Amino acid sequence: MLELVHGSLDLPGQWESGKGPYPIRIVALVSCPKCGKWMSLSLHRIAADGSVSPSLVCPYRCGFHDYVRLVGWTCEDEQQATSEP
Ligand SMILES: [Zn+2]
Repeated sequence: MLELVHGSLDLPGQWESGKGPYPIRIVALVSCPKCGKWMSLSLHRIAADGSVSPSLVCPYRCGFHDYVRLVGWTCEDEQQATSEP
């Protein structure tokens, strides 16, 4: 389990609330801990404690594959993200 800190995505291994690539689900964006590219968690489930399931696989094929937890995640993040126009 890898813990990702809440940040601006400028550095690898951070997350922030944001929109997914499609308007159906909006949750969080993550910077890949390995290659630093951004990915959406719109297809993942994020538990109340920030645990992400299923495991995260980097879509850019850098080789990153691990279970992650969003440190500082709260349900308010999801509500805030999903209430944006
Ligand atoms: Zn990557």
